[in-house]
Amino acid sequence: MCVNFVFDSSLDDEAKRLCHQYWSYVSPNDYIAHLKILCYDYNIRSDELFITLAKCQVYLGDIHCEYCSRPYQLDVPADIPHARQQKSWFCDGCISFSGGQLTVGR
Ligand SMILES: [Zn+2]
Repeated sequence: MCVNFVFDSSLDDEAKRLCHQYWSYVSPNDYIAHLKILCYDYNIRSDELFITLAKCQVYLGDIHCEYCSRPYQLDVPADIPHARQQKSWFCDGCISFSGGQLTVGR
């Protein structure tokens, strides 16, 4: 799997490790347990967890917008299998620019 991370410059190495661990999640069933384990491992509260995660943008390196080549940006780990199922993908910017003409894969 090819997942690219873009970190906010305020994140330290431990916060980056936390982001990597969060995005290594693959099972669709235990998302809440996954979050609890992360909070426990890093000794943080869930609101601190989400503040850290919000400073990390995650892209799929092997799926790009067919029009502008922007990489697929992920919101939650569950997006990954969903993104993989699409044969073609256009980013939100291109879809709104096209006035709805680009809708393949949505
Ligand atoms: Zn695009």
